[in-house]
Amino acid sequence: MSAERPVTLSIVAPCYNEADGIVEFCRRAIAAAQAVAGNSFELLLVDDGSRDATWDKLSDLAEKQKEIVAIKLMRNHGHQLAATAGLANSRGEFVLLIDADLQDPPELVSDMMAMMAEGQDVVYGQRRERKGESWFKLATAKAFYRILPWLAKTDIPKDTGDFRLMRRRVVDILLSMPEQDRFLRGMVSWIGGRQAPILYERDPRYAGTTGYPLTKMLRLAIDAITGFSTRPLRIATWCGVFSAAAAVGLLLYTIARWMAGDTVVGWSSLMVVITGFSAVQLLTLGILGEYLGRLVQQSKSRPLYLVDEIVSDGLSRTVSHTRIDRLSDRYAVVPGDRELLS
Ligand code: UDP
Ligand code: MG
Repeated sequence: MSAERPVTLSIVAPCYNEADGIVEFCRRAIAAAQAVAGNSFELLLVDDGSRDATWDKLSDLAEKQKEIVAIKLMRNHGHQLAATAGLANSRGEFVLLIDADLQDPPELVSDMMAMMAEGQDVVYGQRRERKGESWFKLATAKAFYRILPWLAKTDIPKDTGDFRLMRRRVVDILLSMPEQDRFLRGMVSWIGGRQAPILYERDPRYAGTTGYPLTKMLRLAIDAITGFSTRPLRIATWCGVFSAAAAVGLLLYTIARWMAGDTVVGWSSLMVVITGFSAVQLLTLGILGEYLGRLVQQSKSRPLYLVDEIVSDGLSRTVSHTRIDRLSDRYAVVPGDRELLS
C-alpha cells in the first residue's frame, strides 16, 4: 500500500455475494469519487466471506486499478464488522460508508462533500422512499425506528442506514470503540459533533439478493437495543412487580371466596394464571440473558474480525494474524489522550 499518497476520500463497501453487481458498483463509485476528489481517493471493498465469485472479482479489480483495495475476511462476519474492517484500513480525510448493491447512490457523495465544507462532521443518508422492498421489511423497519428512540438514550435518527460520509476524526473515534456487537449508525450518533441528514431515494438492488434475512435483521435490532439502552432490564423489573401484585390480589380473592364458602374455581383459570406467570418469568430471564450473553462475549475480547488477504496496488499479501490487533493498537484512547479529539 502506498501509505505516502494523501487520500481525500475513502469509499468503504462491504460485499457479501455481490459478484453480479460489483463491477457496475465500482464503475459508478469511482466516477463519483473522481468528480469530488480527482485522483485522491481509494475504494475499499471488503469481501465478507462470500460464497460466490465476489473475491475473484474484487482481487481482479484491485490488481488492475491502483485506487482499489480488496480485503478478504476469513469468513462471514456480518455487515457491521465487514464495514468496520474497511473503515480500519481506510486512510481518507473523509470516509464514505456505502452498500455495494447500489441501493444507495454513490453520486450523492458530491452533495455530501458540499455539506462537509459547511463544517459537518457526519452527513448521513435518510431515506425518503424505499423502492423494491417487501411490505414486511418496510413495516418492521418502520416499527423498529419508532421503538428505538423510546428505548435508547442516544438520539438515533430514523429511516437511516449506514450510508454516510464521515470526517476522519469521527472514523478514528468510532474505531476506538471496542464493542463486539456493533450498531454503527447508533455508535456514530453517540459520538455527536455536527451531524446532518441528506434526503435520498433508496433504489432497488442492482443485482443479487439481500444478505439480510429476517434472522440477521432481528439480531441487528437486538444489538441496537442492548447496545444503546438498559431500559428493557427495567421493564423486566416492572413486569415482575406487576405480576407479584397480581399474584397477591389473586391470593386475597381466593381466600375471600374460600371464607365465603364458595366452591373451588375451575382449572382453566388456574392454567391461565400459571402460563401467564411463567411467560413473564421466561421473558424476564430472556432479557437478562441477552445482556449477560453480550457481556460474556465482550469479556473474551476476541478480535472483531479476521483478515485473510489484502490486495492493493496490485500486490496481494496474506495478513499476519497480529495485524488484526491494529484496532486496539492504533486507536486505543488512553485517559488524557486528547489527540483524537483535536
Ligand atoms: N453484507 C455483508 N455481510 C453480510 C450481509 C450483507 O457485508 O453478511 C453487505 C452486502 O453485500 C451489502 C450490504 O452489506 O453491500 C447491505 O446488505 P444487503 O443489501 O443484503 O441488505 P439490505 O439492503 O437488504 O438490508
Ligand atoms: Mg441492500
